[in-house]
Amino acid sequence: MKIYAVPPRVDAVLFDMDSTLYTNERYAAFQRESLIRRFAERRGLPFEAALSEVEAYQSAWGRARGGAQISLGNTFRAFGISIKESAAWREELYEPSLFLAPDRRLKNALEALKGPQARGRALVVITNNPVLVAQKTLAALGAADCFSVILGLDSCMVSKPHEAPFLKAAELCGAETGSCLAVGDRYDLDIAVPLRLGMGGILVDGVEDIYRLPALKLPAGGRS
Ligand SMILES: [Mg+2]
Repeated sequence: MKIYAVPPRVDAVLFDMDSTLYTNERYAAFQRESLIRRFAERRGLPFEAALSEVEAYQSAWGRARGGAQISLGNTFRAFGISIKESAAWREELYEPSLFLAPDRRLKNALEALKGPQARGRALVVITNNPVLVAQKTLAALGAADCFSVILGLDSCMVSKPHEAPFLKAAELCGAETGSCLAVGDRYDLDIAVPLRLGMGGILVDGVEDIYRLPALKLPAGGRS
């Protein structure tokens, strides 16, 4: 875990989903590979050729930007695949319940972060997966009722690190950007933009770090 900034009060916590609210190497690899396989079919290329194209594009993009990461959604966009189309692929290909199971430690941590009902802070998911996949993922983890807002790839039709879903999340929670805290596993996609918007940011190594968040005793929000 790396704590970049914690706001003086935290009214909303904006979580990334994949590799943040769960850690599952097999599912992460499946997501990337099945999407690139679909991209290969769409372009009429063998899988290996499509994979090479994607990897070459992502490495060149990162090299030109000091090692920064680009999302797969934005990579496909560069090859002429719209966000709408790649969101539909994800909905068609991903079945989170095949990989994930209810996680009581996650649920306990989220409930502790949320605080008492009615006075608690808002918990939000902002993911580059579509909302439907996010709902299925949270249901598989047994944590669907912990979140008041879910923003996916198809909510703003842009892929993180675009600022739109972060600003939308603050607006939907009725929170100032200065009282939001972003939590995610990829600095360039989940943390850099929130910090620029004046939010807090905590980089995690996976769900084990989420279990530890309540111990940080985040400053209470204005509602409490
Ligand atoms: Mg992630």
